[in-house]
Amino acid sequence: MKAVVCHGPRDYRLEEVPVPRPGPGEVLVRVHLAGVCASDGKAWDGAPKIWGTNDGQGRYIEPPVIVGHEFVAQVVAFGEGAEGRDGLAIGDYVCSEQIVPCQDCLYCKEGLYWLCEPHDIYGFHQRTPGSWAEYMVFPRKALNYKLPAGMDPDHGVFVEPLGCAVHTINRAEIRFNDVVVIAGCGSLGLGMVAAAKMKSPKTIVALDLHPARLELARKCGADITINPRDEDAVTKVKEMTGGYGCDVYIEATGAPRAVTQGLDMIRKRGRFIEFSVFRDLVTADWSIIGDTKELDIKGVHLSPHAYDTAIRMIAEGRLPMDEIITHKLPLEDYEQGIQMVIDGSASLKVTLRP
Ligand SMILES: [Zn+2]
Ligand SMILES: [Zn+2]
Repeated sequence: MKAVVCHGPRDYRLEEVPVPRPGPGEVLVRVHLAGVCASDGKAWDGAPKIWGTNDGQGRYIEPPVIVGHEFVAQVVAFGEGAEGRDGLAIGDYVCSEQIVPCQDCLYCKEGLYWLCEPHDIYGFHQRTPGSWAEYMVFPRKALNYKLPAGMDPDHGVFVEPLGCAVHTINRAEIRFNDVVVIAGCGSLGLGMVAAAKMKSPKTIVALDLHPARLELARKCGADITINPRDEDAVTKVKEMTGGYGCDVYIEATGAPRAVTQGLDMIRKRGRFIEFSVFRDLVTADWSIIGDTKELDIKGVHLSPHAYDTAIRMIAEGRLPMDEIITHKLPLEDYEQGIQMVIDGSASLKVTLRP
C-alpha cells in the first residue's frame, strides 16, 4: 500500500509498504480521508517542541513512522477475537481517538488516559502507525467510535479536531452570564465557537485576522467578531463589558501576541484557557496572573470524553462542514497539503485522500 513515512524533519517520503495485518483484538480499516493538522506542519518543519528529545512528556516523534492522527476510515477486517468490538461491523465508517492509552501508567490509573505517559498517538510512535496511508490498524487498546448512518463520511475527518475544541470548552466551564472571547478562527477555533454556543453564554466574541474566517465564525455561532487588524480588540472587549474585560479568554492562535492580548483583555478572576502549541517561547508579565488579576489558567491537551459530542455536533449540522473542509488532495500531494497548512492563509481543514 501507499503510505507517507516520516524519516525526520523535512524528510517525509511516499513509500510502498505492506498492508498491516490485524493481530488479536485489533481492527483493520481502510482510510477514507485523513486530515493535515497544524501540528503536522510544525513536525515537518522540525519544531523543537514536537521533536526535541524525550523530555519526559513522551511527545517526541519516533521515525520512521507513518504520519497522521486525523482520519475517518472504513472497517475492513477484524483480528482474532475483535469481531463486533465497539459495536463495529465490516463496512462501518469509524474514528479512533488519536491516543491509544496504555491503561497501566499513573495517569491512566487516575483516569487521565489522554495524558498517558507512553503517549502512543497515531502518526507519532512506531507502535501506532498513522493515517496518511491506504490502511491502518486500530490496536487492541484503541478507543473507537462508529459514525451514525446518514452522516457524510467525509465530515468524519473533522471529529478529532472538533473533539479537541469540545474538550477546550469543557475546560472553560462556561456560565450563562459569561462573555467568552475565542482568539483564532482556524478550524479548531471555529469548532470552539460552535461548542461554546451549545453552552449558551451571554456573548461569544471571535477574533481573527482573516475576514472570511470571521464570517464562518458567525455561522458557527459567534455574536461579535473583531479583526485586530482593523480595530483594537482589547479596547473593544473592555467597552462591551463596562470596562472590566471578558470572563473567559481562549487562546487558539499559536501566536505569542495573542497571549499578552488575552492577559490584557480578561477580567479579574477570569479563566484563561490555553490550547495552542507555540513555535517560539512566549514572554508575558506573569504578575498579571497573581497579583493583578488572580486568574485561573488552564491548559488543554487532546480530546478526552469528547468524541461522542463532536460526532453529534457534526451529525446535527452545527458547523458548515463543507466550508470548513476546504481541500481534499490526493495522498500523493501531501507536501502541498503541509505547505498550505503552514501558510494558513488560503485554507482551513486540508485533507488527504489515500
Ligand atoms: Zn490534530
Ligand atoms: Zn497510560
